[in-house]
Amino acid sequence: MDTPILIAGGGIGGLAAALALARNGAHVTVVEQADAWAEVGAGIQLGPNVVRVLKSWGLGDGLQRIASFPQLLRVRDAANGNTLGTLHFDARFALRYGAPYATVHRADLHQLLLQQVQQQYAVQPLLQRQVQGWKRLEQGGLSVDLAAGPMAGPTTSESVRAQVLIGADGLWSQVRRQMLPGEAAPRYSGILAYRALVRQDSLPPALRSRQVTAWLGDRMHMVQYPVRGGSHMNVVALVQGSRPDDLQNWDHAANAGHLRAALAGTAAPVIGMAEAIEHWRLWPLCDRPPVRSAAEMAQGRVALLGDAAHPMRPFMAQGAGMALEDAAVLAQCMQADGIGEKALYRYAERRWQRCARVQLRSIRNGNIFHSTGMMRWGRDLGMRVLGERLLDVPW
Ligand code: FAD
Repeated sequence: MDTPILIAGGGIGGLAAALALARNGAHVTVVEQADAWAEVGAGIQLGPNVVRVLKSWGLGDGLQRIASFPQLLRVRDAANGNTLGTLHFDARFALRYGAPYATVHRADLHQLLLQQVQQQYAVQPLLQRQVQGWKRLEQGGLSVDLAAGPMAGPTTSESVRAQVLIGADGLWSQVRRQMLPGEAAPRYSGILAYRALVRQDSLPPALRSRQVTAWLGDRMHMVQYPVRGGSHMNVVALVQGSRPDDLQNWDHAANAGHLRAALAGTAAPVIGMAEAIEHWRLWPLCDRPPVRSAAEMAQGRVALLGDAAHPMRPFMAQGAGMALEDAAVLAQCMQADGIGEKALYRYAERRWQRCARVQLRSIRNGNIFHSTGMMRWGRDLGMRVLGERLLDVPW
């Protein structure tokens, strides 16, 4: 199996890269370590910067089918329910940014990308293939070592020749480990994300909503928004908490009692939501500091994309968004400069600073969202006066 472009990882970033490249006529191979497609059931908010990318790939109608398009984001004080600020996602917003604001179920977006690469471009991603490492070949190109994924039976391995390797293999990227040896492992942020996806009609009527609502409290915040055309609600409560043993698992069974204890003292709708939902999943949030140069995002014939390159905290809701933007820019660079080192370096040069800024702003937003005391007072004032400018959105 020789291939010009080998993509490690079939998450949202890897499939987006495959789609963007295949649209330009490139031949792409995607290898995914999992033994089946099973995206974790959580929601994703897509700012207009991301919706623009999806539309440019011809996915506007598909998005219309799977997404919700909330008209309002309301920021509320988690202690007393007061509104701190609102942002209207109305026709003027869509005109100003060239696209609307959308919210989707992560599995639905993943499926949309998968169907598009399979059906429109005949790219068949290969499951149960784990990239283990690569070597440069003297005659040019790379030899990439693959093993069967962790779920497969007895280990088999093979080597694949590729012109370039794209590491879209997520936060714990093996490709990154070889590219940046000696780098520290991802760090635990101190924050636990409790998340749930529920049918709206299973909630008490007072808790149902078609808006995005962010509740900001002391050392916590909760976000809720509709997905699947409004039939379901995605709820994520982020609280400070101690490090679970297994940081690599982003789908722990959660103890709802611990969440309710962490939300004690918050307003009735916050407590009500925690009580109305029986099954929560737990995701310990980890990130890395931003890279400091393009050379840390692309070296020779290997480049990083998505969370492998810039894993971030979710306080700007832009992690998947940056992966989709990466994919679009990677395809543009390969279109202009061919499949090789020059295109990968150009790609990294165009992406690393924007992604680093979004990573740092996400950390800053987390500090603003979870602030206490005088900082909290300043946040509430800033929210009223500056609105979205306080959060410095990258749309
Ligand atoms: P991943 O989704 O991690 O995919 C990597 C894939 O590579 C996986 O399928 C994995 O199995 C595979 N893999 C790993 N190693 C190998 C290997 N060696 N060989 C082959 N395959 C391999 N983003 C937004 O844009 N909006 C949001 O609202 C939002 N909300 C979020 C809320 C929370 C609580 C969290 C934690 C994150 C949120 N994000 C959001 C971020 C977003 O989920 C991620 O940034 C995005 O999913 C990253 O996609 P990826 O494809 O780069 O990585």
